Amino acid sequence: MSFIYLDHAATTKPHESVAAKMLPFLGEEFYNPSAIYQPAVKVRAKISNARRTVADFLNADPMKIFFTSGGTESDNWALRMGVESMKEKGRHIISSSIEHPAVLNTLKALERSGYEVTYLPVDERGRISIEDLKNAVREDTILISVMHANNEIGTIEPVGQIGKIASEKGILFHVDAVQTMGHIKIDLKELDIDLMSASSHKIYGPKGCGILYVKDPARFGSLLYGGSQENGMRPGTENVPSIIGFGEAVAVASSRMEDDHAHDLKLRNLFIDRLKEEVPDVEFNGDQDNCLPGILSVSLRSVTAETLLIVLDSNGICASAGSACAAGAIEPSHVLMACGMDKDKASRTVRLSIGRENTEEDIIFTAKVIGDYIRSRS
Ligand code: PLP
Repeated sequence: MSFIYLDHAATTKPHESVAAKMLPFLGEEFYNPSAIYQPAVKVRAKISNARRTVADFLNADPMKIFFTSGGTESDNWALRMGVESMKEKGRHIISSSIEHPAVLNTLKALERSGYEVTYLPVDERGRISIEDLKNAVREDTILISVMHANNEIGTIEPVGQIGKIASEKGILFHVDAVQTMGHIKIDLKELDIDLMSASSHKIYGPKGCGILYVKDPARFGSLLYGGSQENGMRPGTENVPSIIGFGEAVAVASSRMEDDHAHDLKLRNLFIDRLKEEVPDVEFNGDQDNCLPGILSVSLRSVTAETLLIVLDSNGICASAGSACAAGAIEPSHVLMACGMDKDKASRTVRLSIGRENTEEDIIFTAKVIGDYIRSRS
């Protein structure tokens, strides 16, 4: 049975060339990149190439890009070592109420060890207010962590403006760009970002690999204790196949990001039109004018997300209620609640996330499945 995959914000299918580029490193080129003999040196050079590809894509210095096991590790590392590097100045952190659990749960742990966190509210579209941010800044604020775009509703946050404020005040600024890298332009020479997390499996690369960009590595410690890999910043024998695959995924993204964006946007607009026709009282969440085109959060009046996802699944359509981490959990999404939604509406909200391999037929069929189901119940 073939499936219609509408859960690209959870993970993406590795691009064909990604799998092909990884394969030799699962076989012939298995060497430990830290070793001194020639075949290992070749592997090490391939890691350097991947790092350069990622760095060029972000307009950053390769010496500031460190490979990790993914977005979760990068977020943990950024926050825990970020506050450590600023501990002389204070213990106050600013973040938003709609961050991913990789950030929120790290912040909770920091709160338990004596840090104070201000969680900025968001408006109904999921945007933080710059005024609120300015008011939250204190003498002892050491770190601001705000995501680039939200994984449930796709809203893009004003990271350019936040970075300016942070740099004026000498506050470290971390951005979780897991949903945006490879999807929208990020220029690290233009943006005042000190630390940035990204993940390979959201951009048609393999799972278990990500990066942390560190603007000032000399002032920043490693999260783990161990060997001298990644310039002593991230110990542990490198996940070579995934790093190579991530590099290839970034190379592919850099050659087609505008086309991907146009494709996703076209399908998003088609989805909105079709759903409006099929389900008259459908509502769309997030900021329609300032969002990732691939993420569409939809609330339906007469059916719960749980039921709808089962209906979709039985028609061969894969989607989620919210983030992958929250899928399966019945708790209403903290993101939707922070946007001012009540529990009832949150429980009737699904996330349909579009990607490269989707077609107009996929969208038309999915909208019809939803419409048919709603009609069958009225
Ligand atoms: N941050 C955001 C915004 C995410 O969407 C995710 C994954 O869903 C993560 C962090 C965690 O990334 P990873 O799955 O690579 O650990």
